[in-house]
Amino acid sequence: MKLTVIGFWGGYPKAGEATTGYLLEVADKKFLIDCGSAVVSQLQKFVDPLKLDALFLTHHHADHSADVGALQHVFIIQKALGHSKDIFPIYAEENGYKYFDDLTHNGVTAGVPIDVNNGVTIEDISISFMRTIHPVPCLAMRFSYNGKSVVYTGDSSFTEDFIAFSKNADLLIVDCNFYKGMDGSKPGHMTSEEVGTIAKQANVKKLLLSHLPHFGEHDQLVREAKEIFDGEVQLASTGLTIFM
Ligand SMILES: [Zn+2]
Ligand SMILES: [Zn+2]
Repeated sequence: MKLTVIGFWGGYPKAGEATTGYLLEVADKKFLIDCGSAVVSQLQKFVDPLKLDALFLTHHHADHSADVGALQHVFIIQKALGHSKDIFPIYAEENGYKYFDDLTHNGVTAGVPIDVNNGVTIEDISISFMRTIHPVPCLAMRFSYNGKSVVYTGDSSFTEDFIAFSKNADLLIVDCNFYKGMDGSKPGHMTSEEVGTIAKQANVKKLLLSHLPHFGEHDQLVREAKEIFDGEVQLASTGLTIFM
């Protein structure tokens, strides 16, 4: 498996960058996970959007979904230019993702409901889900293939449920929008201390801090997570790649 960070900012993108978006390559599949502001622009530096196999959406907040329309326009315009593609699946929770009906669009994309209890299987890749704690319905995701797994918390405040859900993951991508000692629970996000605790308790191999805040020094988040978790901790940055 190979992960490429397309965007990592919480809320809005800094100039020339993007909010949440990750490209996950598993076997011969290329999945986009979340499609926030400016993700479509950044994505094209790393992959031709026509080569994507599916999009998985955690929730409908703009910093995770603002560029869904832009991605649909890629497919519509490229189709008109003669580059046709099978109808592109966009996975989201039908009764949780507010704009689910809009995911099926103009013969180029189709909304596919996520079965939270039974997960999704695509060839030999299995994807399981967990409901998070956030002001709107949001799903954490675990992608597993060939004995390796990547877990992404989506947006959430701290819950011990993440420990079982992330158990022994090769990579844990977390919403780390606040510093140690702050309270992220109202807006539904986590601190460096909380994500360090999950990583340690879940015994993950590597921790990737993402959904980063627009204040403070991000290196401090790494130091604070490392006070608790003694595995590898990295800050998300545009184009960062991690192999599992
Ligand atoms: Zn959110
Ligand atoms: Zn967010």
